[in-house]
Amino acid sequence: MNGKGCRELMREVVDAGLCTYCGGCSGSCPYMTAYKGRIVFLDNCEVQDGQCYRYCPRTHTDLDSLSRMAFGEPYGMEELGTVSRVVMARSTDPHVMKMGSALDM
Ligand code: SF4
Ligand code: SF4
Repeated sequence: MNGKGCRELMREVVDAGLCTYCGGCSGSCPYMTAYKGRIVFLDNCEVQDGQCYRYCPRTHTDLDSLSRMAFGEPYGMEELGTVSRVVMARSTDPHVMKMGSALDM
C-alpha cells in the first residue's frame, strides 16, 4: 500500500501535465473517464490506496499488482514481462512495406 489514490494522481500527474493519456487509470474505474483529451472525474472517490495511482505509468508503477490484475499471476522478470501471446505481421502492400520498414533504408 502506498496510501495514494485518485486525488494524488490528479495532483501529481494530470494537473502537473505528466499524463500521457494511456487510460491505465480510467480503464477499470467507474469514477473516472477520458474526456476531450483529459482524464476527468464523474464522481468523488474516497479510496485512499487506489489502483489508479498504482497502475499509472507516470507514478511508481506496482508491476506485481498490475500483473496479478491483468494475468492472474505475479510479475515475472522476463524482458517483455507477462504476455498472453506475441503476434508478428507483415504487410503485402508495397507502399506500406516501403514506408514501414527500416530495413529498406
Ligand atoms: S481509487 Fe479506484 S475507484 Fe477510486 S478513482 Fe482510483 S481506480 Fe477509481
Ligand atoms: S494512468 Fe496516468 S498517464 Fe495514464 S491516463 Fe491515467 S493519469 Fe494519465
